[in-house]
Amino acid sequence: MEFNVDEIRKDFPILHTKNMGKDLIYLDSAATSQKPIQVINAIMEYYKTYNANIHRGLYDISVKATEGYTNSKEKVAKFINAQSYREILYCKNTTEAINLVALTWAEQNLKEGDGILLTQMEHHSNIVPWQILSKKKRLVLEYAKVENGVINMDDYKKKLENAPKLVSFTHVSNVLGSINNVKEMTKLAHTEGAMVHIDGAQSVPHMKVNVKDIGCDFFSFSSHKMLGPAGIGVLYGKDEILEELEPIIGGGDMIRSVDFEKCTWNELPWKFEAGTSNIEGGIGLGKAIEYIEGIGIDNIRKHEIELVRHAIGKLEKVEGVAVYGPELGKDKIEGRAGVISFNIHGAHPHDVATIFNSEGIAIRAGHHCAMPLVNKVLNEPAVARMSFYLYTKKEEIDKAVDTIEKVKKVLRIKKHR
Ligand code: PLP
Repeated sequence: MEFNVDEIRKDFPILHTKNMGKDLIYLDSAATSQKPIQVINAIMEYYKTYNANIHRGLYDISVKATEGYTNSKEKVAKFINAQSYREILYCKNTTEAINLVALTWAEQNLKEGDGILLTQMEHHSNIVPWQILSKKKRLVLEYAKVENGVINMDDYKKKLENAPKLVSFTHVSNVLGSINNVKEMTKLAHTEGAMVHIDGAQSVPHMKVNVKDIGCDFFSFSSHKMLGPAGIGVLYGKDEILEELEPIIGGGDMIRSVDFEKCTWNELPWKFEAGTSNIEGGIGLGKAIEYIEGIGIDNIRKHEIELVRHAIGKLEKVEGVAVYGPELGKDKIEGRAGVISFNIHGAHPHDVATIFNSEGIAIRAGHHCAMPLVNKVLNEPAVARMSFYLYTKKEEIDKAVDTIEKVKKVLRIKKHR
């Protein structure tokens, strides 16, 4: 199918609304994506025509709901090339998925003095769970350095020599847009005997991810960033690893049998999903994957590369603007995802975002839940960020770049570095 952004936009009702009386220009898809009507309708149809609890009903609408929920797991498994849906655990979001790895595998396998290696470009959700666990179990946390917008691989290799038991890193930085070589990083970590978890919150929605090819042990991502509803996320784990783990939340659905003294666990993936599931979330996520596959994930990636090339080319020409991220040069723009953080010299990013809003443009400003990266590595209190998706148009980027001049005017910024 030919990629046609104008046709795609027709599927997204919110893109035809106003913000501050102007046409909404949504440049905050790294925070959450907009939803196509197909996903909205799938959730509505579930509530209108077959709302029922799953797994326990012998009546038609319960069977249909169970099928919808289970089929969505099969779609997720196929989408990321997992072995089967047994490897797909649903939880709330990426954050909860990472906490699940910390509270199951890491809690059950690590002991005092063991090391965990992260990188300096992690989102808080891939830092805080490890800090909590480290405090509790007296583990040693290390961070591979980030330089010039990318992970310093020499430092990563050096820190691997300390033989961490677990390595956890992001696939794509939500601040820098850098795409890490996760296959290589996984191979190096495995050579040193470490388990590998990858935070795929910013990759799965935008590029082909093949967990088998990458070889990682765990991989996390969120539905709401990939056209699906909020409140549902995925933890992929290798079957043989999940099989060995003890569940941490007990209750209905996750058991095979219960006696007054003891119980036995249900099979994967249900062992990790106690209680009534987010049924409409699963159904919505399944529809979102169908939608992405209809467009083609490689077509989406290609579109975003063109958007980044266009945006960087424009921003480079604007006086007084600093763009963060990998210094890749125009010929290597493929190393960047559709996330561009920037600052306007003399303007606080919150003022920038407020003035953008007055033009109908939604961008984000702050530390983007990556305070160590923004404050210590970039050495900034905050940055402004625009991020793209399949429905973003070059004209919208042009409008955003033009608005930088308005920011300078409103804030009376004259001199630039
Ligand atoms: N990791 C990265 C790289 C992210 O960008 C985000 C969200 O922005 C998360 C993790 C957390 O995702 P969620 O809030 O859906 O749990």
